[in-house]
Amino acid sequence: GHAEQKRSRHPRWVRVNTLVTTVEEQLATSFAGYEKADKMSQVMAASGSTKLYFPDPNIPNLLALPPKIDLSKTPAYTGGRIILQDKASCFPAHLMNVTREDGDVIDGCAAPGNKTTHLAAIVSNAKSKGARQHVIAFERDKIRAGTLKKMVKLASADRIVTVKSGADFLAAAPEAQEFANVGAILLDPSCSGSGIVGRDDAVRMHLPEQSATTTTPTTNSKNSKKRKRPDEAKAKPEETTTLNLAMDDTTAEETPVLEDKLAERLIALSTFQFRILTHAMSFPNARKITYSTCSIHFEENEGVVTRALLSSVAKEGGWSILKRADQVDGLKTWKRRGVWEDGKLEETISLDEDRKAEICEACIRCDKGTDEGTMGFFVAAFVRAAVPNPNVV
Ligand code: SAM
Repeated sequence: GHAEQKRSRHPRWVRVNTLVTTVEEQLATSFAGYEKADKMSQVMAASGSTKLYFPDPNIPNLLALPPKIDLSKTPAYTGGRIILQDKASCFPAHLMNVTREDGDVIDGCAAPGNKTTHLAAIVSNAKSKGARQHVIAFERDKIRAGTLKKMVKLASADRIVTVKSGADFLAAAPEAQEFANVGAILLDPSCSGSGIVGRDDAVRMHLPEQSATTTTPTTNSKNSKKRKRPDEAKAKPEETTTLNLAMDDTTAEETPVLEDKLAERLIALSTFQFRILTHAMSFPNARKITYSTCSIHFEENEGVVTRALLSSVAKEGGWSILKRADQVDGLKTWKRRGVWEDGKLEETISLDEDRKAEICEACIRCDKGTDEGTMGFFVAAFVRAAVPNPNVV
């Protein structure tokens, strides 16, 4: 059917792990005999056996390969030299644009670790002259933290990343000595997962822990085999067996709920997402934050961003949203931007249209089923007006 067609057109995204190798080296070894396509559309239309690649124009060290190509058994994958990570999922760490002035970086919601290892690769590239920069990776769920540790080790990122297993980022004390050098925080919190490819229904949700026990199994027969309570979902087989890894974004946590519970779940999720974002804003030396979801819902995306911008923490701390014009190369030119939905946020009733447009223009969206071949995704960056950076809204 139509959905199947769309699914099969999703390219296989390969992020080359620059902690251990280079794109040139991978093209000469793992992808020997592959030809460079002239256009992305050629890769998208190619069969799984066509040896074709397209270097991504937005994200460094990212390659698009034909849909359906199976790389899961290749030595490059099992050896941690390539990471199967959707293009959209590469946006947050790239957008963060970590430099050596940023010091340590927190990943507040880290497992399975796609963005953690991406951050580690960028940090190690920042060529720190002074003290080495570290990535501190929080993961509240101990089972998922186990997967994260494996992925970090496999990617040879263990010298850069400290995994805090079973650690709730919301419980981390911003003033603690161990975070004194934290200048940047990446947040990719639990979300509805409605942007994940192959998930056309928006009813299967990732839930924050506090709502977990109240979850009702879905009535959608398509999902009936996947019926799980959240605590069972945490131990999903694909995350703990096959390779003992979860390196693909399609293994993001998920929990089924009733469709008519969607509005209620979006309130629970966005409440948690707002808390985690404003908590990050309270870290005294942080000057960069990225916030992302693989959700298509305004409530979890522009809604959370706007509420955070209007919060006293943001105002007192001098946080602003990073304008499109000041975003990193490759993302400035990205066309898909935030979309405002009127009537969803009471506290923004007094916002004028210009401000709404300004916020939307600063927000980056990816849509699934487009020619860009990404999953549905959202990311926005925040910067501190208080630190010397004139490039803020
Ligand atoms: N960033 C990951 C990646 O790219 O591979 C995916 C993150 S997934 C969407 C969200 C993760 O955050 C889940 O593993 C969840 O257990 C964890 N999490 C949720 N709330 C948390 C909290 N308060 N503190 C730490 N981790 C949390």
